[in-house]
Amino acid sequence: SFTDQIIKREKSEALFEEAKQYFPGGVNSPVRAFKSVSGPPLFIKEGQGCRITDEDDNQFIDFCCSWGPLILGHNNALIRERVIETVKKGTSFGTPNRLGNELGKLILHHHPYIDKIRFVSSGTEAVMSALRLARGVTGKSKVIKFEGCYHGHVDSLLVKAGSGLATFGVSTSAGIPEAFAKETIVIPLNQPEALEKALKEHANETACVIMEPVPANNGLLLQDRSFLQYVRQQCTAHGVLLIFDEVISGFRVGFSGAAGYYDIQPDILTFGKIIGGGMPVGAYAASHEIMGHIAPDGPVYQAGTLSANPVAMAAGLAALEQLIQEDFYERMAQKTHRFVETIEQFCLDRGYEISFPHIGSIFWIAFSNERILASDQIDPAGMEKFKVLHHELLQRGVYLGPSGYEVGFVSAAHTDADLDEAAEKICESLEVVFA
Ligand code: PMP
Repeated sequence: SFTDQIIKREKSEALFEEAKQYFPGGVNSPVRAFKSVSGPPLFIKEGQGCRITDEDDNQFIDFCCSWGPLILGHNNALIRERVIETVKKGTSFGTPNRLGNELGKLILHHHPYIDKIRFVSSGTEAVMSALRLARGVTGKSKVIKFEGCYHGHVDSLLVKAGSGLATFGVSTSAGIPEAFAKETIVIPLNQPEALEKALKEHANETACVIMEPVPANNGLLLQDRSFLQYVRQQCTAHGVLLIFDEVISGFRVGFSGAAGYYDIQPDILTFGKIIGGGMPVGAYAASHEIMGHIAPDGPVYQAGTLSANPVAMAAGLAALEQLIQEDFYERMAQKTHRFVETIEQFCLDRGYEISFPHIGSIFWIAFSNERILASDQIDPAGMEKFKVLHHELLQRGVYLGPSGYEVGFVSAAHTDADLDEAAEKICESLEVVFA
């Protein structure tokens, strides 16, 4: 039922063939390989605002936005200018620098759930460091995580994790010692009894519970606030730390992320993506007391050659300065809601089996009319429909991340007119999907 290939993909195809000689699977991160959608991955050469252009000069309205960092859209002028100005003075010194102070100050001033922060270079590194911190603080080693939450490619967390792993149907990775995996207890989302049982049996040896408070790597599995509150209470009651992995939700569902959105105080928070304005930055943060355990103040070691390098700090600063503007998040949520509702109404009128869970400027296309709260509710058959949708959208100039398990992101650069255009193309494509 695919529309015949209209857009040219010759250059992307040739570049992908070449890339296969250099990189495993032709890529430097697995989900980029377009394994679960059709055709070769697009090689993007430029992004401006909400649009990206590939090597064959096709243009798309982009809802992947580099997997989340680009909340201000592509090539934001203020970020670009600050990066250029900074890079003229050098790229890295391996010393403290003023821009690091400025970014740290801005974040801590506007984020009431943290007192101190440490910058690293990716979300994975942030989570890895947060786990070590939780273990160092508690002197315990086990970790409880939720099925369908992804926390980067940290050894002990690549268990029932979602993201590229959900796409490929792999529940864990080769190369992880059994002894590490044994330190991880996996429980389902949205099931208070499962958490209660795990904590009853293992609290004495468990350092922390880690969760994405807005699970967004295996579909968008929006939890009830009451469940998140229950997790918080149980952790406190059992002397187990709670880590909110806010690599996606941080600075996205509000400046203070899901902690602020739900008003729940976690013990440790991890960040990535938006915090670096499109440059490689991650961070972890907590109270003065907990952060006091980190070297050189305390015994938990963590370091990084390129941590808080000035160019990345400049990009993060120029990004976050724009996010603290009044009403920024309200406007983002409003236009996303309007966009989603337009499509939802179209589908409702036609009786399509599809729904569009969304929060703030994050949305997901779920091929189901049920509310989905846990990964085992997702029908894999929906992924075939997504494949058709993805293809039809590429033909019409709309780019979604290349997997039905991935969420979409709206940026500040998507105007109402852009969103209307995209909604129309999505509706047209869904007519093909459900034909
Ligand atoms: N945690 C969460 C919740 C994520 O979504 C991701 C990446 N998608 C990571 C951690 C890992 O971040 P990175 O890819 O920057 O290592």
